[in-house]
Amino acid sequence: MNLILLGPPGAGKGTQAKRLEERYGMVQLSTGDMLRAQVAGGTTLGRQAKEIMDRGQLVPDEIMIGMIAERIDQPDAKGGFILDGFPRTVPQAEALDRMLAEKGLRLEHVIEMRVDDAALVERITGRFTCAKCGQGYHDRFKRPKVDSICDVCGSTEFTRRADDNAETVTRRLAAYHQQTAPILPYYRERGVLDSVDGMAEMDRVTAEIERIIGRS
Ligand code: ADP
Ligand code: ADP
Ligand code: ZN
Repeated sequence: MNLILLGPPGAGKGTQAKRLEERYGMVQLSTGDMLRAQVAGGTTLGRQAKEIMDRGQLVPDEIMIGMIAERIDQPDAKGGFILDGFPRTVPQAEALDRMLAEKGLRLEHVIEMRVDDAALVERITGRFTCAKCGQGYHDRFKRPKVDSICDVCGSTEFTRRADDNAETVTRRLAAYHQQTAPILPYYRERGVLDSVDGMAEMDRVTAEIERIIGRS
């Protein structure tokens, strides 16, 4: 099964994608993670992308489309994937349709995660991640069970994203409303769009998504 989790920054896309990956074996394809890997690797693309990401803007469509086309071709994506952070513009959605058609793949579900802007600011400014295994946490909503120790791998090192600060968040939210939200009618017209209440607790959101994809 191939699906898209669509929602503003901080909506819970990564959190839910990881759960689906663990439970159903679909692979999470996060364009944000791919870009951050380029930044960490110090590549030319990484240097260009970092500047744009730090400003809270979107990386050009051609770059993102090329990146996802290559990723979908990897063997691990054959068993189904969850797109997290892509598409983010109508041209990206159109390019994805062409890509899938060429490969004979189907997009089963597009799931919109709805969260109020005010809640998103709190979600993003409190977000942190285990530096070793990538498990996501939150200062208020998901603290490690033992303070400063990762529940999953026991690491004591955590990271916060450079773009997860109050100023950048405002710009990222504006980019979502202006450039990404227009994708919603695009998928609604194709009959593949469902929405979940992303304000609910993490487990409830997971249950809602499982109901939509027929795994509950
Ligand atoms: P979030 O999880 O907060 O929604 P992401 O990790 O998905 O953020 O993305 C971080 C940044 O990477 C974005 O603000 C944007 O600059 C860039 N980015 C990620 N995916 C895309 C994309 N599909 N198109 C353009 N820019 C992207
Ligand atoms: P996205 O990938 O959409 O940017 P994340 O999955 O990284 O969002 O979630 C953003 C932050 O909010 C993380 O710190 C995460 O632990 C927390 N979070 C995710 N889902 C919920 C939820 N339903 N309720 C409260 N906090 C949440
Ligand atoms: Zn860990």
